[in-house]
Amino acid sequence: MNRKWVRILVAVIFLFVLLGIGLMVYSSKNSADLFSQTIKNQLNSNREANEELLSNTEDIVVFTVGTAAPLPSSRSQSCTAVFVNGKFFIFDVGDGAVAQLENLNLPLQDISAVFLTHLHSDHYIDLPYLVNRSWQLGRAKALPIYGPKGTQEIMTATDALLRIEHQYREDHHGSAIMNMDVAGTQSTEVTMAKDGSSIVYNEAGIVITAFDVGHEPVSPDFGYAISYKGKKVVLSGDTNKNQNVIKHAANADLLIHEAMLIELVIQLSDITQEMGMDRNAKILSDITDYHSSNIEAAEVAAEANVKHLVLNHLAPVPDRKVISRMYTQGLSKIFKGEISLANDGNKFIVN
Ligand SMILES: [Zn+2]
Ligand SMILES: [Zn+2]
Repeated sequence: MNRKWVRILVAVIFLFVLLGIGLMVYSSKNSADLFSQTIKNQLNSNREANEELLSNTEDIVVFTVGTAAPLPSSRSQSCTAVFVNGKFFIFDVGDGAVAQLENLNLPLQDISAVFLTHLHSDHYIDLPYLVNRSWQLGRAKALPIYGPKGTQEIMTATDALLRIEHQYREDHHGSAIMNMDVAGTQSTEVTMAKDGSSIVYNEAGIVITAFDVGHEPVSPDFGYAISYKGKKVVLSGDTNKNQNVIKHAANADLLIHEAMLIELVIQLSDITQEMGMDRNAKILSDITDYHSSNIEAAEVAAEANVKHLVLNHLAPVPDRKVISRMYTQGLSKIFKGEISLANDGNKFIVN
């Protein structure tokens, strides 16, 4: 090859290298632009959705954030979010609840209060993380927590558990951004009047009533009724079929009631017994005596004359169609209103 051709070859290679670098710069700039635009769109749409939730002064908007009982599943355990007249309430915070709340892009910094039904771990074990995340994201005052006797002990331990973590955040970001003084909680232990109920919240036209339900030996144990502008949403908490739920759910628009396929849980208990897993068999058999079957949930809905029944706290979780069908099969003969099987992230609007 003579020199002329060598020079041409070198020039061509040089051009290709330049073109390659140019393309890389162009495509990485394009990717960066695309990334920025996607994030901006996402943040804008979250902001708009949350503004809409918090500015709604007519409806009660409910998200079944976590719908599983404490049996293995990919769902989150108990957690229900309620938006009403500018307030954002959380009822129970079981395992996985915070991750699910964040997946739903709900505004954790704006939580007005947390209400606990009872102190089984599947109803409060994610509470420390909720306290932590809501503060990191901008909660500007101590988080009010309402619950049964024992709540104070759990919240004192929670505040102690988080103290070091909160100190690190304040040291790093500064107290103007993360002020430890407002990081903690302010808890109220609810005591019942003689009729087994107590108004725990009464503000801005919103009345939240706690009422005793039946989950022995777990006591106290509450359900909650949320009323606003003539609309009513009721959460049963963990309970077997209970007259107090029927009383407080009377004519409710939405009843979120726990439901267990008791025959399947007994079958699970028998299987584990046969396999020599005595401990599991005993626990599975025990839990059938303080929950409600799907049939009982429908009976409660019918006796209380509610409009819409949502089956929740599902054991076992309906992760197969055949199990989903078992939950609702035959219920329309007992209860004539609307029936839903809750999924994590479902939204219900009472208007
Ligand atoms: Zn329980
Ligand atoms: Zn439970």
